[in-house]
Amino acid sequence: MNIDFLGCNGGIGSSNGELQGSTCLQVSERVLIDAGTGLERLSIAEMLAIRHVFISHSHMDHICCLPILLANIIGHNSDEPVTIYGHADTLAALQQHIFNYVIWPDFSRAAPGQQQPTMRYQVLEPLQPLELDDLLITPFATSHTIPCFGYSLKKRGMHTIFAADTTYTPALIEQLNQLEPADHLILECSFSDSYQDLAVATGHLTPALVAQVLDAMQYPPNHVWLTHLKPTYEDAIREELMAYPHWSVCADLLKY
Ligand SMILES: [Zn+2]
Ligand SMILES: [Zn+2]
Repeated sequence: MNIDFLGCNGGIGSSNGELQGSTCLQVSERVLIDAGTGLERLSIAEMLAIRHVFISHSHMDHICCLPILLANIIGHNSDEPVTIYGHADTLAALQQHIFNYVIWPDFSRAAPGQQQPTMRYQVLEPLQPLELDDLLITPFATSHTIPCFGYSLKKRGMHTIFAADTTYTPALIEQLNQLEPADHLILECSFSDSYQDLAVATGHLTPALVAQVLDAMQYPPNHVWLTHLKPTYEDAIREELMAYPHWSVCADLLKY
């Protein structure tokens, strides 16, 4: 299984000036998870091939490039609308606040001259798997400040869990423990430990909270990847991560 971490930061900018970008994962030629600023790494040809976008939640760092991606695709996907998947509340928020003809056109309605709309919405239910090409994708509920889905991804015998934005709660552990053992677990780590109160209040994790999640999991994963480091906290987080040398930071290896 190949996952490209097109964007894996919890914000924009980096202390060393390297382009990183906010959350966007490519799991196949046609399938993205989230549409943060990392999406900009794709060429126009690669953007035009996208037909499925799974959204974790409606926060800006995960959706900001979705409207602009669709504006590139309009008129180039007469074969199939782009399907936008997510929690019912996530899709309702996109409809109400983004694709409302004020912020951006409603691409779920056909424009004049179009046979079919550029995109369509599909509501997902937690722990209900969906098959797409050679990918089995299962959403599960994480514990963030608004409804948020992580995604279990199975492809060619490899199982990766992307846990999106979340803090540590028994409800998160209960969901993770309902998934099969994973080869790879991608967990967020937005703040350093000295900002734990802020992390919990904003629905995020720190290195110590990541350790708690792993301790509570019935089947610890073979590999742990950290993502969503907030750029202004990244140096402090990386210092604390020296205590956990077996974890990898997604930004250090954009593809696996
Ligand atoms: Zn986020
Ligand atoms: Zn968020």
